[in-house]
Amino acid sequence: MIVENNVPLQPYNSFGIVARAQNLVRIASEGDVAELRADPRWRDAPRFVLGGGSNIVLTGDVKPLVLKVEIKGLRLVEETPRAWIVEAGAGEVWHDAIQWMLANGYPGLENLALIPGTVGGAPVQNIGAYGVELQDRFDSLDAIDLDTGLSFTLDAAQCAFGYRDSVFKHVRSGPNDFGLSGRALISRVRFRLAKPWKAVVGYLDLERKMEENGNFTPSPTDVFDWVCAIRRAKLPDWRVLGNAGSFFKNPTVTPEQCADIIARDPKIVHYPMADGSIKLAAGWLIDACGWKGKSVGNAGVYEKQALVLVNRGGLENPVTGGEVMTLAKAIQTSVYERFGIRLEPEPVVV
Ligand SMILES: Cc1cc2nc3c(=O)[nH]c(=O)nc-3n(C[C@H](O)[C@H](O)[C@H](O)COP(=O)(O)OP(=O)(O)OC[C@H]3O[C@@H](n4cnc5c(N)ncnc54)[C@H](O)[C@@H]3O)c2cc1C
Repeated sequence: MIVENNVPLQPYNSFGIVARAQNLVRIASEGDVAELRADPRWRDAPRFVLGGGSNIVLTGDVKPLVLKVEIKGLRLVEETPRAWIVEAGAGEVWHDAIQWMLANGYPGLENLALIPGTVGGAPVQNIGAYGVELQDRFDSLDAIDLDTGLSFTLDAAQCAFGYRDSVFKHVRSGPNDFGLSGRALISRVRFRLAKPWKAVVGYLDLERKMEENGNFTPSPTDVFDWVCAIRRAKLPDWRVLGNAGSFFKNPTVTPEQCADIIARDPKIVHYPMADGSIKLAAGWLIDACGWKGKSVGNAGVYEKQALVLVNRGGLENPVTGGEVMTLAKAIQTSVYERFGIRLEPEPVVV
């Protein structure tokens, strides 16, 4: 295990922001964490856990020790009459892990295809797309407490999954609080993939694909291919146009608040939720404020989808984290002034 110094982070974040890690260590096994903790120079050092860097905004050089998770491994742990339990190392590339599962006959994650990042980053914000959230296919995960070095296992309830949320996004603020932000390194994730497999195709875009293809009984691979095609058409490829996916969460409001907004803006895109609240499309709110296609420095709002902020300067003259956050704040202010709604960023600001 080697601690590298002054490591460029531009290749390790999907915005392509230029920043350096003062110190970076690659964690390829649970043993590497033990070795790190055995070294008095690093045992109590502040640290930042990095996966694929597809949900972060770097606002400067990273002073805490960067733990870049590269733990590999894919295996079927158990097969029951009702499910396959598949385990993946946290450092596996998310999309590649799904492909491996499909190739080996363990379907269930195809709606989440092409989401960038690692397996270990996926539970942190309970990733979701096209009608499926990670929590719907989750069994358990292993993690290491970086404060104590102890390994532990969490089930779904203990992960406290919510909409783009989990226990890993919350800081522990008291003895009865279980926040694990900055404290846990997720090492392995197990998925419970139900048998018999059932296609999740209720999303409008997927319904359209069924119509277009005249295929109303798609296989897991059909759904996988359709999701990839839909995403490629809608979202910028972060390797070409740096971004971190959706920059803001879709806000939820009460039915009264929604009625109030509809009275002023009848076209607002909204979805009733099971708990009685109403989810609003953040992209629509941003678009309604006139932001689509606009820029602040090299930070821009994607022309095809106002929810995505992009790096207009490429890798040669890249956006800075400061520009991204200035644009994000300007958007938040105009959405608040017009709709009275506070947009919450999805990526982690480092
Ligand atoms: C083009 C594009 C499209 C996207 N589409 C979607 C989408 O459809 N749905 C969606 O939900 N998200 C989407 N995202 C966001 C992002 O891909 C996911 O949130 C992804 O799971 C982040 O994983 P990562 O490994 O890149 O995490 P990172 O960006 O490296 O880290 C994000 C956070 O997770 C923590 N973390 C990462 N790995 C670990 C670990 N092993 N242990 C503990 N903490 C860890 C980090 O400390 C940080 O706080 C998209 C992003 C892009 C660029």
